[in-house]
Amino acid sequence: MELQYTESERVIRRLYEITNAYDKGFQYQIRALLAMGLERFNLDIAILSRIEGDKYVVEHTIAPPDIPLRPGDTFELGKTYCSVTCEANSPVAIERVGESDALGTHPAYQAFGLESYVGIPVRCKGELYGTLNFSSATPYPRQFNEIDIDSLNLMASWIGVELIRLQQETELQLLNQKLVEQASTDSLTRLPNRRSMFKYLRKEVNRINRNSQLASLVLIDIDFFKKLNDKYGHQVGDEVLYAVAQSIKNTLRDYDFVARYGGEEFLVWLPETTQLEVENACRRVMNNIADIDIVDEMLTVSMGICHFKFTQHLNTDTDTLIDTMVAHADSSLYKAKAEGRNRFHQYELDDEKQLILPREDR
Ligand code: GH3
Ligand code: MG
Ligand code: MG
Repeated sequence: MELQYTESERVIRRLYEITNAYDKGFQYQIRALLAMGLERFNLDIAILSRIEGDKYVVEHTIAPPDIPLRPGDTFELGKTYCSVTCEANSPVAIERVGESDALGTHPAYQAFGLESYVGIPVRCKGELYGTLNFSSATPYPRQFNEIDIDSLNLMASWIGVELIRLQQETELQLLNQKLVEQASTDSLTRLPNRRSMFKYLRKEVNRINRNSQLASLVLIDIDFFKKLNDKYGHQVGDEVLYAVAQSIKNTLRDYDFVARYGGEEFLVWLPETTQLEVENACRRVMNNIADIDIVDEMLTVSMGICHFKFTQHLNTDTDTLIDTMVAHADSSLYKAKAEGRNRFHQYELDDEKQLILPREDR
C-alpha cells in the first residue's frame, strides 16, 4: 500500500510538471506525456490519435526507429485496437492480446501482431476526439494495475481539456484577426480605409526612399457621381462604388495599393513606376471603368497624379511628405476636373531640389 501511494504520487507529480509547462507549448507537452506513458507502462509505441468517422489518424506519436509511424498516417478504424476502446468507451488494457477474448481474433492483431495494448478514448466537449494508446509487439510482463488506469484517465482528461482550450484560443485568434481586418477595411468597397492607407503609405515611403526609387500617388474621383445617386438612388450608387473599386484593383499590379480615400474618391499608390508607366496605368483604369455596366451612362473618372523620385536625403519627415504628395495629387485632380473631367493630370518633379513643384512655379 505504502509503495503504491508513492508510485501514484510520482505519476501525479510528473503529470503536473508536464501539464504546467504551458510556456513550452502543446506539442512539447503531448510529447512529454507520451514519453511519460511509455516509461510508465514500459511499452514501445505511443499514439495520440484523432478519429474521423471510420478513419484513425495518427496525430502525435513516439515509436522505435524500426516502426515507420508518422503524424498524419491514417488507418481504417475497424482495423485498430482503438475501435474496441471507442466502443467500450472506457480504458482497455490487455497484457497478451493473442490470448484475450476481446482482441485475440481482431484484424489488428493479425495485421500488426501487437501483443500488449493499453488505450483510452479522449473526449473533447463531450464528443469522441480520438484515443491515447500505448502498445508493444511483446507481451506485457506484468498486469496493468489501478495506477496505470488512473494515470491514463488523468492524461486523457488533461488532453481533452487542453484541446478545448486550444480550440478556443484559435477561435479567439481568428476573431481578433477579423476585428483587425474590419478596423482597417472599408465595409462597402472592401478596400483598405483611410486609416490603414496612411499606415501603409508611411511604410512604403520609407522603403522607397531607402532604395532611392520612383513612386506615384494617384487620386481618382468618379465624375458626376452625385447625379448618379440622384437618378438611380443611393443603393445603385453603392453598387457603382463597389464595382469601380474592384475594377481599379483588378487593373493594377499585385504590389500596387488601392484604398478608399473618402466618398467617391480612391487613392492609388504605384511603387517603382516611371511617369510613362503611371500614365499607362491610368489609361487602363479609365478604360476598364468605362466597361462597367450598371447604369445607362458611361462611367468616367478624373485623376490627379503625383509622381515622385525619392532620395535618401529628404529634408522632411514621412508624414509631411505624404501630405505634400496627396496635396499635389489633389490639385492635379482639380485641374483634371476643370479641364473637362474623364482625364488625368500629372505633376512633374523637380529633379534638382527633389521637391514636387506645380508647373506654374517652375
Ligand atoms: P465631380 O464630377 O465634380 O466629382 O462631381 P460629383 O458629383 O462626383 O462630386 P460631389 O463631391 O459633388 O459628390 C460626391 C457624391 O458622392 C456626394 C455623396 O452623396 C456621394 N457619396 C459619398 N459617399 C457615398 C457612398 O458611400 N455611397 C453613395 N451611394 N454615395 C456616396
Ligand atoms: Mg466626383
Ligand atoms: Mg469627390
